[in-house]
Amino acid sequence: MNNEKVITVTDLTKRFGKFTAVDNISFHVNRGEIFGFLGANGAGKTTAMRILCGLSRPTSGGGSVAGFDIIKEAEKIKRRIGYMSQKFSLYEDLTVLENIRLFGGIYGVPDKEIKRRGEELLRRLDFYDERNRRVKSLPLGWKQKLAFSTAIFHRPEIVFLDEPTGGVSPETRRQFWELIYRAAADGITIFVTTHYMDEAEYCNRVSIMVDGRIEALDTPENLRERFSADSMDAVFYLLARRAKRQE
Ligand code: ATP
Repeated sequence: MNNEKVITVTDLTKRFGKFTAVDNISFHVNRGEIFGFLGANGAGKTTAMRILCGLSRPTSGGGSVAGFDIIKEAEKIKRRIGYMSQKFSLYEDLTVLENIRLFGGIYGVPDKEIKRRGEELLRRLDFYDERNRRVKSLPLGWKQKLAFSTAIFHRPEIVFLDEPTGGVSPETRRQFWELIYRAAADGITIFVTTHYMDEAEYCNRVSIMVDGRIEALDTPENLRERFSADSMDAVFYLLARRAKRQE
């Protein structure tokens, strides 16, 4: 990790009619960092993340992602990032290998590279024997690992993960985080939202959003110290109970 800023956000606001979903937030993310973007349901995380991915325009404020302006250069951003949503986008009727080929092709990875990287990926995930199995027959934890791997297959500068580990066991989440660490070690910046506070502890820095605003942003260690809390769970609870929004 270094101090080169790969995401900068300044006074970003998003309104839907009279409702302010994201309220004047500013922050940055360093290259190679694992950045946790936390908040209770409805705090505004997905709305902010969609703007950073170039999928939605802010009402005011701005920022840059991978060196490109989030308003004027949204298309360039889309080519340099990976994105995994809560309802990740694998094709259930295609096999594991077909999904890898398809995503590689969509992101413009040359055929030879798709073959090479695809094999490497299948072996690393221990999926080689399952390569011809349809995705819909795989357990959820396997699908999540595959979805993450396809989201970074084109070697993006940043990958955005929106609650990537929902619904799986702690053991499967731990394995998933091993993939995240490996990607970060390979130089990919990780921007991740999660509801699991044990995962917040794995991040280099975390921000905590309450009712559209960033109420705290620091390393887990500094946050625990500042709020005299023994866990991120306790820090989150102290901040989130200030929320007025109900989802
Ligand atoms: P969750 O963890 O539940 O995904 P979140 O922090 O990602 O929550 P958002 O999905 O960003 O929250 O939603 C923030 C608020 O903005 C919510 O109150 C939501 O109802 C509202 N909102 C989101 N999208 C729209 C929209 N297109 N039109 C109107 N309101 C919206």
